Amino acid sequence: MSENRQFRPADPLGIQRVVSPKSVMPQQAEALDTGLPIAEDEILVEVESLSIDSASFRQITESCGGDLGKIEKHILDLVSRRGKHHNPVTGSGGMFIGSVAQIGPAYPLRQKPVRVGDRIASLVSLSLTPLSIKKIKKIHPQSHRVDIEGYAILFASGVFAKLPEDLPETVALAVLDVAGAPAQTRKLVQAGQTVLVVGGGGKSGVLCLFEAKKKLGVKTIAVDFSESATERLSALSFVDEVIQADARNAVSLMEKVWDVTKGRMADLVINVANVPDTEMASILTCRSNGIVYFFSMSTSFTRAALGAEGIGADIDLRIGNGYCEGHAELALNILRESPELNKLFVEAYS
Ligand code: NAP
Repeated sequence: MSENRQFRPADPLGIQRVVSPKSVMPQQAEALDTGLPIAEDEILVEVESLSIDSASFRQITESCGGDLGKIEKHILDLVSRRGKHHNPVTGSGGMFIGSVAQIGPAYPLRQKPVRVGDRIASLVSLSLTPLSIKKIKKIHPQSHRVDIEGYAILFASGVFAKLPEDLPETVALAVLDVAGAPAQTRKLVQAGQTVLVVGGGGKSGVLCLFEAKKKLGVKTIAVDFSESATERLSALSFVDEVIQADARNAVSLMEKVWDVTKGRMADLVINVANVPDTEMASILTCRSNGIVYFFSMSTSFTRAALGAEGIGADIDLRIGNGYCEGHAELALNILRESPELNKLFVEAYS
């Protein structure tokens, strides 16, 4: 990495890094400029691992026929073309961990204290983060993690978390990637409700189920596709019911949830599946005046909105904002509170 001490002008939103099309924000941009030096208010991070968004990793894996060599080439081509890891099919990115290498002199240190050498995780999407990859060292298909040599640039407006010392860094990376989901769950669940999590066996799913169960009298129901996921879910003390089903089959899942809830259906449905076409199942399993929270990046706004309208479902459809104040600490604390989730995450992600 170049140690150039000149700086570009301050630019808290990173607009000067947009190459094309002009006048859009970095997330909407087709390509970003990853060139050095950094701006006066940016920080430069030496990146070690990327956590690729699950919907994106699945789409890339399928398009490469599961071949690791092709996946590596795909990621390198994508990042060199766009200057960021922004999957054009799913629209999503992921996040990274690494060490702070340089801090611009106008970086807002008072609001965001950080020092050179600090180990951090980005909490803004890779879909808007300038990223340069020199080399891919290893791809971990089970955890969607990619170890690299390269650097990323965080704008002054960007959010990051210092990596905790009491958890393996790759575990923290996995948890922080989906930190918004349990944090939003805390805001949405009310005592006594029935909460259904579609794709519940994945990393955000189990965190949401644990968080939901903390409220008095909540009944938690997890839906997942594979036998391994449903077996994993059945062993968790905070999951009341497990349904093995393909959430792309809306009618079949509705019937199963009808049976389990004796026709009452769910007050809150949280969709964290990493495949497209699960919107209708989430809508059909929600009771009238309930809430469906779409955290999944495979969600289609059109399918959800028109699907609900098409069956006259008077329910609240929420977009899954990945950010929520205090979300990083809340998500990491779940692993400190729950020995069974701690074990599950350490086994899967360290
Ligand atoms: P994950 O660990 O891969 O979990 C996804 C789960 O969905 C898996 O357990 C998977 O089961 C299950 N699933 C797949 N196909 C299914 C089907 N047909 N029916 C039922 N379940 C199915 O993913 P994650 O990291 O928790 O992420 C979950 C979602 O959140 C993804 O779409 C991701 O892109 C999105 N996300 C959103 C944000 C945001 O800011 N809103 C941030 C990060 C991630 P199998 O393992 O059995 O296939």
